[in-house]
Amino acid sequence: MIYRIVKFGDPVLEKPAEPVIVFDDELKKLVEDMFESMYEAHGVGLAAPQIGISKRLAVIDVSFKENPDAKLVLANPEIIHTEGKHTQPEGCLSIPEFREPVTRARKVTIRAQDVNGKWYEKTGEDMLARAFLHETDHLNGRLYISHISALKRDLIKRKIRKLVRAGEWH
Ligand SMILES: [Zn+2]
Repeated sequence: MIYRIVKFGDPVLEKPAEPVIVFDDELKKLVEDMFESMYEAHGVGLAAPQIGISKRLAVIDVSFKENPDAKLVLANPEIIHTEGKHTQPEGCLSIPEFREPVTRARKVTIRAQDVNGKWYEKTGEDMLARAFLHETDHLNGRLYISHISALKRDLIKRKIRKLVRAGEWH
């Protein structure tokens, strides 16, 4: 099932999500649907709040279907180590059409549970490190535009308000 991606302005995107407690078939189906919805939207990461489900759950595939090993499920993820700095343009499926350079750690280690509830640790660099931070931010109710200057953020919000008024933001 393909979920509709929730856009900036919906309060679900700006509140901390609830921990995943039950790892059952329903969760497996949700994870499958999240991958499907992410690919459909041409994204490399998707957090559950972005489909309106306030759960600490995200999926990532920075290879975009090229490498099956790159498919990651992050349930209840925590950032346990960060290193270096890296500035790259960043976007978000919930804030389509906008991209801004964001400075983040270049190397990031997470601790998370997989779809079966098994804890694992993984270190990512560059794009994967960025995805770990971006998706974990989502689960804490934080969007990438909170990492850019207030001036740029206000400009984006103003443009979005215009799109909302024109009925082009839903
Ligand atoms: Zn995002």
